[in-house]
Amino acid sequence: MEDCLFCKIANGEIGSDIVYENEKVIAFKDISPKAPVHILVIPKKHISSIMEIGRLNSEELSELMKAISNIAIQFELLTDGFRVVTNTGEGAGQTVDHLHFHILGKRQFGWPPG
Ligand code: AMP
Ligand code: ZN
Repeated sequence: MEDCLFCKIANGEIGSDIVYENEKVIAFKDISPKAPVHILVIPKKHISSIMEIGRLNSEELSELMKAISNIAIQFELLTDGFRVVTNTGEGAGQTVDHLHFHILGKRQFGWPPG
């Protein structure tokens, strides 16, 4: 989608530190990490948030979920645990309107989140 930062990252127009990629999904390091490991996982297809999840086909959806567990293995997050977050809407802190899952690891996390 025109003028979408994460579409531009997905098509290579804007550089990023890519850690995982296949035909449907790409994952890259967050530019402003909130934990020692902070990865963003996105579908290459533009959808604005989880509220449009119905626009992904079953392959896109399963690749997105599998990417999260593969990255957790890749970064050895299982021993200490990790967190997966998708901020939805301004009030929850969503700043980029292209669905993304934050994977955060390698530090302690409070519950409930702030
Ligand atoms: P959210 O605020 O939940 O919408 O998450 C958007 C995330 O994108 C933030 O954690 C930002 O630090 C991150 N971000 C913004 N621009 C870039 C970029 N060019 N490369 C990597 N991450 C980015
Ligand atoms: Zn987009």
